[in-house]
Amino acid sequence: MTCLEAQSKIIAYIDDKLEKDEKQEFLHHIKNCDECREELVIYYTMIVGMRQLDDNLPLSQDFTVELQERMERELKSDRKKRKLFRSSVVTCVAVVLALLIWGYVNFLNLLHDQEQAELKRKQGEYYYSEAFQEIMFVPEDEEQILNINVSTEETQESFYEKIRKYNMLK
Ligand SMILES: [Zn+2]
Repeated sequence: MTCLEAQSKIIAYIDDKLEKDEKQEFLHHIKNCDECREELVIYYTMIVGMRQLDDNLPLSQDFTVELQERMERELKSDRKKRKLFRSSVVTCVAVVLALLIWGYVNFLNLLHDQEQAELKRKQGEYYYSEAFQEIMFVPEDEEQILNINVSTEETQESFYEKIRKYNMLK
């Protein structure tokens, strides 16, 4: 905001007719510009003083202090709002991020489960022979299979007995 722009808004500011953003821009300029601040004090004293006289109100003791307090109050309330806005934005971003991560992890788990299911389906029996190959007995030729001659009628004990014998011969 240039000095010309700021000075053109002095009356509107005194009458509290500036838009929120416009007012903040104006206040920041006034805070940092001695020339415009002086101008504002003069107008403020004249306008507010004349109105108080017109309305038969007691005159302000110190227009400069009164104006200073008003400006500080308005700047502070804006900072508070900005702070609140910032913290709610941070909260929103955090929630969205958490949801995204949660979704992504779930997606990965789903993918993993599907892959595992597919793997198990493909492997079928092989999956089990892989897992139990160390304790599993696999004959090397047909003759040995015939020698073992396991039938469903035989007890478990004789089956294992045969396996034991086979392993001893080997
Ligand atoms: Zn200025």
